[in-house]
Amino acid sequence: MISINSGLLTVNLDALVANYQAICDLAPSSRCAAVVKANAYGLGVETIAPVLLKAGCQDFFVATGNEAIQLRALLPTASIYVFDGGVPDTEMELLRHRVTPVLSTPDQVERWLDVANHERPGKKIAVLIQIDTGMTRLGFSEHELRYLTARSDLMERLKIDYVMTHLASADTPDIEFTTGQIRRFDELRRLLPPAPTSIGNSGGILLGSEFQGDLVRPGIALYGGNPSPGTENRMQEVVHLQGRILQIKEIDQMVRVGYGGTHIACPPARLAVVGIGYADGYLRSLGNRGFGCIGDNQTPVVGRISMDMLTVDVSNVPNGQVYEGALVDLIGGGVALDTTADLAGTISYEILTRLSSRLQIRYKRT
Ligand SMILES: *Cc1c(COP(=O)(O)O)cnc(C)c1O
Repeated sequence: MISINSGLLTVNLDALVANYQAICDLAPSSRCAAVVKANAYGLGVETIAPVLLKAGCQDFFVATGNEAIQLRALLPTASIYVFDGGVPDTEMELLRHRVTPVLSTPDQVERWLDVANHERPGKKIAVLIQIDTGMTRLGFSEHELRYLTARSDLMERLKIDYVMTHLASADTPDIEFTTGQIRRFDELRRLLPPAPTSIGNSGGILLGSEFQGDLVRPGIALYGGNPSPGTENRMQEVVHLQGRILQIKEIDQMVRVGYGGTHIACPPARLAVVGIGYADGYLRSLGNRGFGCIGDNQTPVVGRISMDMLTVDVSNVPNGQVYEGALVDLIGGGVALDTTADLAGTISYEILTRLSSRLQIRYKRT
């Protein structure tokens, strides 16, 4: 398969579907949504969302109004929820696109009801209510929740599809904190009329049914990231980033490599310049830290990452596998996504969402 670009991003759609099904199996008494914010974690929502729909997913979460409207054009009938609840003055637009807001403040509830009243007088409006149980990000506080529930004029016009909370530490061993969030959630949601719940993100789903709720919201696990780092990754690999070798350097004297000369190559050595750089989303922090892979051989990244190129040491790779145009795995293949993230000092989420539009994406079915 020849690509014109030297950077090639392969997204395995069968692995995506397998991961979706594996998550559904882990949460057998929940509906299983998909979180497709940030362009489906960088992988292309236009392809990812319809594939998940076909796999049986009916509920999709995005972060912003624009993402919701873009998704509505792709999925005319699915439920679409927007985490930010719609910034002020966009409620009408979102309502017309049948987007369901995740509401986190009393003012937000009032704004949506004003618009809904104008558009469809007397009708209830479908919403999710988010409760802050320890993340200290979006969500009703206890005080705000008590205010809302006391306002019967507001309450009687809400149709609460789900009451939701978000776990702050589900991907860490800090199970006590997470259990505390669930306890708090159960306490606070009782202030509202009974409604189905939505709790687990990827990490929460793996913790078991107590941390899932009636609607689970996996993101990273769908895309092959490890939902509980430090343990074996149960998800299939979805993303494979490869770069082509542009030039090979036989090192026969000591030389400095790359900007700032942060690596010294000593003879005998062989280096390969690869056409992927930080502008493609291969983070600059991976300079002198990351590694690629050719076949079964690891090839350490040497020197700094440039905008469009990086250099790997290929001294230990058999001759026949190193040639101009040969592909080097940089994420996926021989290089686990979570390992690259670790080496870059970040998480798989950031690695995926930084993948650049310059990369040529190829979607494959195995
Ligand atoms: C991003 C997000 C998710 C998905 O989280 P993952 O860890 O990727 O599974 C779920 N819920 C909320 C509120 C989010 O912001």
